[in-house]
Amino acid sequence: MHSLPKLTARHTDPGTYPPGIAFMDGQYLPISEAKISVLDNGFLHSDATYDVAHVWKGAFFRLDDHLNRFFSGMEKLHMSIPFDQAQVTEILHNCVALSGLQNAYVEFICTRGTSPTFSRDPRDAVNRFIAFAIPFGSVANPEQMRRGLHLALTDLIRIPPSSVDPTVKNYHWLDLVKGLYAAYEQGAETGILLDAHGNIAEGPGFNIFAIKDGKISTPAFGVLMGITRQTIFDLAGEMQIDCGAGDIPPGDLKAADEVFVTSTAGGVMPVTKIDGAPIGLGDVGPVTHQITKAYWRMHEDGRFRTPIAYP
Ligand code: PLP
Repeated sequence: MHSLPKLTARHTDPGTYPPGIAFMDGQYLPISEAKISVLDNGFLHSDATYDVAHVWKGAFFRLDDHLNRFFSGMEKLHMSIPFDQAQVTEILHNCVALSGLQNAYVEFICTRGTSPTFSRDPRDAVNRFIAFAIPFGSVANPEQMRRGLHLALTDLIRIPPSSVDPTVKNYHWLDLVKGLYAAYEQGAETGILLDAHGNIAEGPGFNIFAIKDGKISTPAFGVLMGITRQTIFDLAGEMQIDCGAGDIPPGDLKAADEVFVTSTAGGVMPVTKIDGAPIGLGDVGPVTHQITKAYWRMHEDGRFRTPIAYP
């Protein structure tokens, strides 16, 4: 077994943070000690890309897919880090192993970084890589998982792909945060944003799926190509359920037999109300149940697992 690096600091402020371990500037640190400069363009301009993978029962799920998306995002943003995919894998592995977490939310980030002259030219900045592992978290809490999420259909337009490429996972979240507040105002738990053509796009941290007459559909345009979204395509293929990506007008979503949302943070999460009206019969539907079970079963499949060697 490979030997784990040592932590280079102690928790000084454990009360304010979840437990967890971060890697930055070549060191492994308690999460409370991992801090970036106020001059980092990742902070000042949201000039960054990131990814989130999860560890379930001691193993990463689909880690290579997350790494491929992350490295492709960095390339599209003209960023580079001094680590290849194998080295990033080792760093992520070390963060989880040092944290001892069996179920973890593992985020890795490349920021534009800083330049010694505070140059306005992004090419002058030294890009920064940061990673951390904290306890697994979910968009939906246990009660919402049981009875289904209550969503609001907002009239907000998700930042268009011609402005920010949604296939590069990014921190341009002000529209999504606005969507959350709009949802709370309507008494809902989270919101749905539209694409530039008025069709369904995505929500704060999740892709959206509708099921009608046994066919599953999800937006094709203006959304993050979620890894969980891909898992739904894979599972539907195996289960011989018709599944595809295309435009979903808001009326079609509301008239669906079943709706669910997907994220690494929570997996497959049922939706039973939109704008206060029930979806289908208002209960978590049979296809959503079937897909959710299959999603968690897939976590046992060796093809998608990267086990952690804990100390
Ligand atoms: N859409 C957005 C905007 C997200 O931030 C996320 C995840 O954080 C998703 C979709 C779901 O992507 P994934 O399944 O890869 O977690």
